[in-house]
Amino acid sequence: MTAAVIPASAPGTDGLSVWPASTTRLAHGGLAVAGVDLAEVAERFATPVYVLDEGEVRERCRTYRAAFPEAEILYAAKAFLSRAMARWVQEEGLGLDVCSAGELELAVVAGFPPDRIVLHGNAKSPRDLDAALRLGVGRIVIDSPSEIARIAAAVGPDGRQKVMVRVVPGVTAGGHHKIRTGTDGQKFGLSLSDGSALHAVTRVLAQRRLELTGLHCHIGSQITEVKPYVTALRRMVGLMARIRDAHGRVLPELDLGGGHGIAYRPGEAALDITALARKLRGELVEACAAAGLPVPRLAVEPGRAVVGPAGVAVYRVLAVKHTGDTLFAAVDGGMSDNPRPALYGVRYAPRLIGRASTAAARTATVVGRHCEAGDVLAAGVELPGDVRPGDLIAVPVAGAYHLSMASGYNMVGRPPVVAVDQGTARLLVRRETLEDLRLRDLGG
Ligand SMILES: *Cc1c(COP(=O)(O)O)cnc(C)c1O
Repeated sequence: MTAAVIPASAPGTDGLSVWPASTTRLAHGGLAVAGVDLAEVAERFATPVYVLDEGEVRERCRTYRAAFPEAEILYAAKAFLSRAMARWVQEEGLGLDVCSAGELELAVVAGFPPDRIVLHGNAKSPRDLDAALRLGVGRIVIDSPSEIARIAAAVGPDGRQKVMVRVVPGVTAGGHHKIRTGTDGQKFGLSLSDGSALHAVTRVLAQRRLELTGLHCHIGSQITEVKPYVTALRRMVGLMARIRDAHGRVLPELDLGGGHGIAYRPGEAALDITALARKLRGELVEACAAAGLPVPRLAVEPGRAVVGPAGVAVYRVLAVKHTGDTLFAAVDGGMSDNPRPALYGVRYAPRLIGRASTAAARTATVVGRHCEAGDVLAAGVELPGDVRPGDLIAVPVAGAYHLSMASGYNMVGRPPVVAVDQGTARLLVRRETLEDLRLRDLGG
């Protein structure tokens, strides 16, 4: 990549604020990420393709470590996991959060130390628990009363497993009702207000095979304000004080979960991680002093904020249609590689890449290729009026909950993941092929 580049932060480069920091404009109208022309990635690996900026992921891990020097940072693998991703996160000093035997085993195969892994899940399968105990995960987060005896039995008479209890602190936060998990009336955790959290803690403490290290909460996702975390923190410290009063036990850990919000479109708010860290630290010290508790070790579990902004999805336009007043640009992917607009009404800012256009901008709707009218990637966005088949369209902020939520719909096959770093591109996860799909189908 030798073309002249203009840094994304230079004046006149509006609209690139949500792109990876390494993004540069190329003289011919294209865009490069980490020194790699996205049009070249599209040529070499075909489309649709997810591009992941390794440096951006690492930099985001470092931002967390610098903001929370005393806390444990656990990357939430469900946002995106591959063996390379597990390695980057580990090298940057983070732990890992998993919710299934699949995520757990992939991470361990990649060399991730099991004792730095936490297993979550509101309905852990026998296979999940078996893998957790066999591989020796650091902590298992108990999410329902029935798990207590189940885990204790699975641990066996000579074992001892570290566990936490997931508490619902009664805090409403999160970008969409489907991703709010901090209040009663949703499936996760044990209620603080009705006493079921304290009751579960009492039962865990009675199990010699379980070592309760602390409390956990995760109030939602895509949260852009510090306040709900502060409210949750105070309530959690209150519960820790009640546990001390009732049982004489001081818990050494407090995990406040993830959910840190990011901007998907220019001008949108993102949670300020440094401000969050500073505020939580101060509040924790204060609340613990007031309750006469030693300050527990804090843990946070960001997923989206670590990997979301590091990813870009690149599509090729297959068809352009004018229906009524709407210009539809249909691309070669859609809801099978990004179900988020259909699930949560998330809005993205796609842009034409790979060529310069002098045509006036038009309001357009970028749709996918799937057999659903709801297969819309982005409605009401601005694209050059001369957008045509063969053009490349890139969607930034595609690193989290894209591939990990991708499906086999229409047997299109899930896209590959290409890492870009210092001017080179390499394949991390290959494209799902017809052969992959055929092999699973036994023909009987
Ligand atoms: C999903 C989840 C996370 C990560 O959420 P993000 O919004 O990606 O930061 C962290 N902890 C738990 C328990 C989760 O379920």
